Amino acid sequence: MHSTPENAPMGLAATALALATAHESAATHHLYQDLHRHPELSGAEYRTASRVAAALRAEGAEVTERVGGTGVVGVLSNGPGRTVLVRADMDALPVTEDSGLPYASTVDGVMHACGHDAHTAMLVGTAQALARGRRHWSGTVVFVAQPAEETGEGALAMRNDGLHERFPLPDVLLAQHVSAGPIGLVAHVEGPVLAASASIDIVVHGRGGHGSRPDTTTDPIVIGAAIVSRLQSIVAREIAPSSTAVVTVGRFHAGTANNVIPSTAELGLTVRSTSRELQDEIIAAVRRIVRAECEAGGATTKPAICIVKSMPVTVNDAQVARHVADIHTRMFGSTHIIDPGPAMGSEDFSELALTPDGNAIPYHYWFLPSTPMPVWEAAPGQSPMARFANVPSAHSPNFAPDPAVLDHGVAAMTGAVLAELTRP
Ligand SMILES: [Zn+2]
Ligand SMILES: [Zn+2]
Repeated sequence: MHSTPENAPMGLAATALALATAHESAATHHLYQDLHRHPELSGAEYRTASRVAAALRAEGAEVTERVGGTGVVGVLSNGPGRTVLVRADMDALPVTEDSGLPYASTVDGVMHACGHDAHTAMLVGTAQALARGRRHWSGTVVFVAQPAEETGEGALAMRNDGLHERFPLPDVLLAQHVSAGPIGLVAHVEGPVLAASASIDIVVHGRGGHGSRPDTTTDPIVIGAAIVSRLQSIVAREIAPSSTAVVTVGRFHAGTANNVIPSTAELGLTVRSTSRELQDEIIAAVRRIVRAECEAGGATTKPAICIVKSMPVTVNDAQVARHVADIHTRMFGSTHIIDPGPAMGSEDFSELALTPDGNAIPYHYWFLPSTPMPVWEAAPGQSPMARFANVPSAHSPNFAPDPAVLDHGVAAMTGAVLAELTRP
């Protein structure tokens, strides 16, 4: 690459900070508040997408809309070099906001409770910083505003709509997500950072009848209760203690009256783990247990077991992770960089990291803790982990990131992009 002082390794952090301050902070905050007031559910991000498209166009990016539904792709070409893809998600959640913010949601029952409004505003801010600082870098940046992350559909939809065929194929992908934790930190994890998840619906078929004559029925509630109990043994007895996995039954519906034995019982599970192999093992165990308990309970109709949604594991490329953490250390200071280890949340970001030939593109996904300091300091708990459990987390109706995370996130992403663009 160039050997100008701006691009020398020691100067890169300073360049990134200078570029980031050149973005229009007030406009980023304005866009964030506007998106927060007007949240849109997964797959219906029409207004959001058009705002992003207009903002990227204003910075000179070549913008394409309606990629994989409401997805937006903005390509900023600036001479020869590497190609870096920056991704933000745009969708909100079916949550009724209770944050008390002056810019709270104006849409009934819909809220940006996962901070995707912040990610989108930071994407635009990063585009501004890089577009206005073109003389400091060379290469191509692909800005992706992705729909439907919460339903696990958006990334795949964009890939299936030719993301990597119609637009420059990236050498690396970058994304960031706001989270609970004291504002100002950046959390980097090498390797597995987020879990694979599967949502499984189960219907147990029994035989209904009168509550006074259980001998004439096959009670699906008793079978369902046995299933719930035995499912607990998967993580406790079948998974190595060194592995991380979760099996949660979050839904169990059956029956309509105290004296009626119903004919069916419905269960809803979430299964999470840190590798695809482990995920396959757990799902196989769930199937085995559900079928066996139905047989043990005398059910003559086989249970219905259906995986209704699944997300792949998110595994950060170790080299990219170290590289990005390194520039963030030089930009923000080592006391601001933490490694929280893998979390059991899930993301569909890694779906973007597959080429049409099935090759994996390296990527890095990091967290931006964004709890306002007064909220963090007032949270009960002696240790950071105890406090972490006591401040509003993503998906909470009280989730209210400190808006200072916007400028911080623009700087973090600008630095990461510059570092990856100038990588030999
Ligand atoms: Zn979420
Ligand atoms: Zn999210």
